[in-house]
Amino acid sequence: MTVIKKHTVKLKNYINGEWVESYSSDSLEVLNPATSELIATVPLSSKEDVDQAVKAATIAFQTWKNTPVPKRARILYKYHYLLTENHEKLARLVVKENGKAYKEAYGEVQRGIECVEFAAGAPTLMMGETLSNIAEDIDSEMYRYPLGVIGGITPFNFPMMVPLWMFPLAIACGNTFVLKPSERTPLLASELVELFTQAGAPKGVLNIVHGAHDVVNGLIEHEDVKAISFVGSQPVAKYVYERAAAHGKRVQALSGAKNHHVVMPDANIEKAVSHIISSAFGSAGQRCMACSAVVVVGDGEQFVAALKQKADELLIGNGLNEEVLLTPVIRDSHREKVLQYIDIGVKEGATLVRDGRPEMELHKEGSFLGPTIFDHVSPDMKIAKDEIFAPVLSLLRAKDLDEALSFISKSRYGNGATIYTKDAAAIRQFREEADAGMLGINVGVPATMAFFPFSGWKDSFYGDLHVNGKDGVNFFTKKKMITSRFDY
Ligand code: NAD
Repeated sequence: MTVIKKHTVKLKNYINGEWVESYSSDSLEVLNPATSELIATVPLSSKEDVDQAVKAATIAFQTWKNTPVPKRARILYKYHYLLTENHEKLARLVVKENGKAYKEAYGEVQRGIECVEFAAGAPTLMMGETLSNIAEDIDSEMYRYPLGVIGGITPFNFPMMVPLWMFPLAIACGNTFVLKPSERTPLLASELVELFTQAGAPKGVLNIVHGAHDVVNGLIEHEDVKAISFVGSQPVAKYVYERAAAHGKRVQALSGAKNHHVVMPDANIEKAVSHIISSAFGSAGQRCMACSAVVVVGDGEQFVAALKQKADELLIGNGLNEEVLLTPVIRDSHREKVLQYIDIGVKEGATLVRDGRPEMELHKEGSFLGPTIFDHVSPDMKIAKDEIFAPVLSLLRAKDLDEALSFISKSRYGNGATIYTKDAAAIRQFREEADAGMLGINVGVPATMAFFPFSGWKDSFYGDLHVNGKDGVNFFTKKKMITSRFDY
């Protein structure tokens, strides 16, 4: 294994506390989505690289699992400080490799830091439970233990937040970690591991192996990897869930989404429009909690006109410009797929209220697409069913809340859903009947914070225990029960 002292624009893997070159000579270009400029090359590592990383993590686990929990937590406190000190730098890097607006990126970094805050509570989070006198002279105790080596596989759309959903808590619980970042946004992971090392993490506790499916398969099949945390698109999430489970691993696989926002006739139109615009078109619609379908209840003409007007006013451009809301999609190849969806929507008979395609001509560099809105979309159309993951919004019409809720139930996905209304009865019915795991009441992006589970339902999640909160602690620990008799 060649040891490289310093990582350069040609990215390296981070194994056992060293930047090392991949065994593989295959690599991929990393582009700035706003300029199409080449910013790095990322190795497409092989199973040998995975083996090296898992070996290092397995050795490190023997010491790390016995490192006192408060001592582990102190490293997390230091990490929190370093991440906060580097907040702006990290946000700028997110803009560079992902393309989202600086304000969004800054918020993403904040969300990631909050995960470290939560993980630093490990001494409390790791506590077990006891009950004396479960029978005469007999007591029961429950202790928590780490699992071993954990594999984390992450998507392009949150290069900071999603890795931080995983490794800080896993490591605080006493596990060691191998992270495979998205090959389309791999730069931030290097900063994350550098700062974690500065915070005092021993070598081998956090490792990074860059690449694509070979690394994923290497992790999900490796006998020394005890659990897999995955976030990405639906087909891959299902594949990872099934294959990793078949290899005897604990798996949580967070998947795709189609999030419905219901606009009731009594909604504050100005506020609903503002929330929907920022949810549907912020980060170019590439958020798993983005609004991608609006169910307009009742007449709705005033709402649709106001929505179109706001979409027309949106500033499109490089995320470094603070005025910009609509930034590029991740790659031209993704935009090609989105353009096919727009053609499909037109063929299916939906009304193209706003066409974002002409704006591509105004932005020749980068993978831009203007805001696109279809009206009179029926729940059976492909554009209503599939996750398009772009600034393309479908408007469905419903006569009442019951019908709106039936559209949500029909969707295979169940990540999030929102209602805009002042009506308490409608809010309660929505809370009880909406078939999704994270609901918003007059909230555009009802993503949960680090101390609650990120709770997608249906095909938006495969597994039992979600990321974050107490679910996260349960996912990264195993419980041991002791039953003791004291009548000797
Ligand atoms: P993706 O599925 O293309 O990639 C995710 C990860 O899987 C990457 O690390 C990638 O290298 C790997 N991968 C891709 N194809 C693979 C294959 N054939 N075999 C093995 N591994 C493979 O997802 P993406 O485009 O990077 O991210 C966007 C998707 O992630 C969207 O569907 C979005 O909804 C979803 N997402 C979901 C959540 C959530 O909380 N549910 C959060 C963020 C993103």
